[in-house]
Amino acid sequence: MRVFNVNAHHITAALFISALQLASSEAAENASHRQQEITRAGKRASMVGPSQFFTGAVRIDPVWPANSGISASGSLVTFKPGARSAWHTHPAGQRLVVTSGVGLTQQWDGLIQEVRPGDVVWCPPGIKHWHGAAPTTSMTHLAVTATAAGQNLSQHNQSQGTFGNYRGFIER
Ligand code: MN
Repeated sequence: MRVFNVNAHHITAALFISALQLASSEAAENASHRQQEITRAGKRASMVGPSQFFTGAVRIDPVWPANSGISASGSLVTFKPGARSAWHTHPAGQRLVVTSGVGLTQQWDGLIQEVRPGDVVWCPPGIKHWHGAAPTTSMTHLAVTATAAGQNLSQHNQSQGTFGNYRGFIER
């Protein structure tokens, strides 16, 4: 499976990671690796979920970047009612912690499952899936997305742009 290189051009395509944050954090890590670092609230800009990966209104609030100590990024992703991701995979897996609302998720060969606050979803490496809000209710989850060789989303997702629907049928 090919994966795309994380660089500044792909920042809008990075589902759950900011490459710029990764670079700046690692620079800070090298400079002060023995000191605690507090990233103040408001220092990480919200992003609009890019249309090639999401349908509907999606806001991504980066929380932390991957670094050499914890090779997974964290982002809060808020889906307005009906908004959801395209089918995609993560090369090193992903955990989703639902923090508010009502969400839906599905893997390629499975049924749509409803998820609610406190539910934790594990998406294994390479498993095609989508996640998003229920049709009439918004949903926010913390996405903890592992990186492999600096990448957290597979390249084929960039142009795929196909979305699951709410009737349980799969748009392949
Ligand atoms: Mn995912």
